[in-house]
Amino acid sequence: MGDLAPYAVDDGNSRGRAVPEPRPKARGEFQRDRDRIVHSTAFRRLEYKTQVFVNHEGDLFRTRLTHSIEVAQIARSIARALHLNDDLVEAIALAHDLGHTPFGHAGQDALNECMQAHGGFEHNLQSLRIVDRLEERYGAFDGLNLMFETREGILKHCSTARARDLGELGRRFLDGRRPSLEAQICNLADEIAYNNHDVDDGLRSGLLTLEQLEGVSLFARHAAEADAEFPHMPGRRRVHETIRRMIDALVTDLLAESARRISDAAPRTLDDVRAAPALIAFTDTMQAENRLLKGFLRDHLYQHYQVLRMTNKARRIIHDLFGAFVEDPRLLPPQYLEKAATESVARAAADYIAGMTDRYSVKEHRRLFSVGEL
Ligand code: MG
Repeated sequence: MGDLAPYAVDDGNSRGRAVPEPRPKARGEFQRDRDRIVHSTAFRRLEYKTQVFVNHEGDLFRTRLTHSIEVAQIARSIARALHLNDDLVEAIALAHDLGHTPFGHAGQDALNECMQAHGGFEHNLQSLRIVDRLEERYGAFDGLNLMFETREGILKHCSTARARDLGELGRRFLDGRRPSLEAQICNLADEIAYNNHDVDDGLRSGLLTLEQLEGVSLFARHAAEADAEFPHMPGRRRVHETIRRMIDALVTDLLAESARRISDAAPRTLDDVRAAPALIAFTDTMQAENRLLKGFLRDHLYQHYQVLRMTNKARRIIHDLFGAFVEDPRLLPPQYLEKAATESVARAAADYIAGMTDRYSVKEHRRLFSVGEL
């Protein structure tokens, strides 16, 4: 960690941990948070959870794990360049998707449908629930007992109704205040990472074509730059030379615009940052181009019939599992029932299902519904 700006989060201005602990001996508090996340069970499960492509569709596609590592890389570069806390952004980035269900957004939507009468399901809140409650690793507390600012960064968004139940952590949604700049960075680093790696995975899978992407200005411009520098490059290299330029352009734009906004708002403390409008942002021009790319991915990749076939199957698996557990809670592993004892069977089922990897949920579905399977 280099020189920190006075409005960066650091061990000294942090609101600390819910359960007080002695200071770590040879590392900072946010390094300790990052380390706790890396050692958690939920983190290892990310390896077998879908980003867009289901884990068994190919070894080279992104998973939630490699996605989270790419987000951490981009977020760290931005944080360092702006003299912000790169240990904190790494911790947030590695934890931001811990609450994701199997099968990506299809899984989350399905579980949310199941949970409508029981308070809903939201992967952001689930990430927080994992680090606050569900991980069982320490003698003195449930969860990982992370620093306030790490938890604040994990909770990207939440409804006003939910915010009321979250105490101190929910306050900013009610008061219309911003989180730390480190949290704001992770938000946009997430977007930079998935927009770009989904282009790469989309092309690799053959669901997207180069001809289609030539119609997207951000891609076309950087492909032309790559062609000018390296004419006659073979396919995969050309794709990579284009995507690395796109990432670089987005990060460079973000750095310049954020530095400008920070200098205009002139925050002196972390509190000033929380009271200011969003200071980490793209220029309007880049924001517009980014939106076009997002729209393109939604129309041509996320809604591709082959992806929809998978999401349809995922929805059925999640609904079936949830239905079976709620109908007969004795089918649930008892520790989940105990954990959610003060809440509901539905919440226990949601915790169990959300924690499943893609392949585990398929296996569990077979165990519960397939005659002849044990
Ligand atoms: Mg993400």
